[in-house]
Formats: sequence, structure tokens, C-alpha cells
Amino acid sequence: MDRYLIESPHELKDCARLLQQLKAMGYLYNFDWGCKAGVHIGWAIIEAESEAQARLAVPPWVRSHARIVKLNKFSPEEVNALHGE
Ligand SMILES: [Zn+2]
Repeated sequence: MDRYLIESPHELKDCARLLQQLKAMGYLYNFDWGCKAGVHIGWAIIEAESEAQARLAVPPWVRSHARIVKLNKFSPEEVNALHGE
């Protein structure tokens, strides 16, 4: 399983609907929000088999707007190797 960042932008008028659906889907606690700061984006990091599977964590009507990024860590050895380039 890989880790994916989900970034789900939405409009103020859609907040309640999105939150209710994520609650129903069981993903509410996976997300952090910028809504109260006026930034209507939800972020979550979840484990999934693929980008497509990660995308299923948001409701269909916001799915095409969601940005999904596969995450990786760098080991100290990898950083050292990069430094030498
Ligand atoms: Zn919002």
C-alpha cells in the first residue's frame, strides 16, 4: 500500500454537503480543512493501492476536482546521493 495525499477543493455553498457525505462514507476524521480560515479545501493522507482507489475517498461530484498525489519519503542515504549530483 502506498500513501496518497488527497486535496479536495470546494465552494463555501458545498461545505455542509461535502462534510455530510464524508461522514457517511467514514472518511470525515481522515480530513483536515481550511474552511474556517476561508480556504475551502480538505486534505487527507490515506493508504491506497492506487491513485484511482485513493480518489474514491471523496464523493463522485467532487472527485474530478480532487488532486491526488502519491507520497514518498526520502532516506538520509537518498538525500546524500542527491547532494552529490
Ligand atoms: Zn469548505
